[in-house]
Amino acid sequence: MLFRTFSFDKCTKWIVFFMISVLFFAPQAHSVSAQEEALTVRVASIVIDNEPIKTEYVMKDGHLLVPALFFKHMGTKVDKSDKYQSLVFRYGDIQFALPIGKKQSYKSVKGTTKWETSTLTTEVLELEGEAFVPLLDVVKNLEMDVTYDSRMKRTFVTTNSAPAPKAISTGNPNKKLVSLTFDDGPDRHYTPQILDILKEKGVKATFFVTGEQVKNHPDIMKRIVEEGHSIGNHTWSHPSLDETFTADVIQEVTSTQQMIEKTVGRASDLFRPPYGAITKSDAIVLHDIGYRVILWSVDTLDWSGKSKEEIIDIVERDISPGGIVLQHNFQSTERVLDGTVEALPTIIDHLRKKGYKFVTVQTLLDNY
Ligand SMILES: [Zn+2]
Repeated sequence: MLFRTFSFDKCTKWIVFFMISVLFFAPQAHSVSAQEEALTVRVASIVIDNEPIKTEYVMKDGHLLVPALFFKHMGTKVDKSDKYQSLVFRYGDIQFALPIGKKQSYKSVKGTTKWETSTLTTEVLELEGEAFVPLLDVVKNLEMDVTYDSRMKRTFVTTNSAPAPKAISTGNPNKKLVSLTFDDGPDRHYTPQILDILKEKGVKATFFVTGEQVKNHPDIMKRIVEEGHSIGNHTWSHPSLDETFTADVIQEVTSTQQMIEKTVGRASDLFRPPYGAITKSDAIVLHDIGYRVILWSVDTLDWSGKSKEEIIDIVERDISPGGIVLQHNFQSTERVLDGTVEALPTIIDHLRKKGYKFVTVQTLLDNY
């Protein structure tokens, strides 16, 4: 169709088409397919201090590259400097930067303001917006140990550092206390219904709120606190922290803390990571800024649209003394949390009959 607009004769047309093909299509197709073959993103587990952790990886010229953020599992703070188009790694007093697209490392010389340059085994790649760095070079810069077991086809990293501050999934197993927790709110639809039920039953619960929702619904947030419930920080915009640079993790948490303080006049030292995703690095960062990381022991899976009966069955099956029950009070999909509201009165009645007492997460932990 394109060539009909030109007044070339048939022969010229073919010569032009041939030249275009040679110049553009053929070499491009060849290099793209060769590159694709070499840079296929695959998934495998790498063992860090005896714990296998799944990661994407690519092989390039015999070198293993993993996403820069994977090093957060080793307790390393990972950031991106837009100014220098570099990835910045910090671990104890070790600090170094890897420019994207280059085969270079700039490591800060301890106790000085100098930076030492060295050459990497292969360059830092950007694939689909994600930076991949050569594993061996980074582990060496972090002064950790790495081995490869060719029989198991597994890479093992030993960080030689203290374990991360522990996340809390349960209270005292010897006391018949239980905490109901509701994540992702406040909202205008489900939260008032849940608050009405809790009020009627005389139950104090814990709400892990996002900064965004507190900003959108400050009056509901105030009601939660006025009615004696406990609150916790659940980030501003609900990102998966393992896919978030360290500076952005801190920003997500502190901006939410400020919004909570502005709205209800006090903050909380409880934090729940979205999706329960917590790396060693984030556990250290959160601990350092004064948070206790709270997970759960009973997952109702209510966000997936479970029915009243299914939610009741899960709670009855998985509850134990000191239990922390995960539920939600905001979902963007309409009506998906109807089961949560419908199940709540029965859950409260059944657990009370079994001798459980409902307390906030704060009180649950005070009773450990
Ligand atoms: Zn959440």
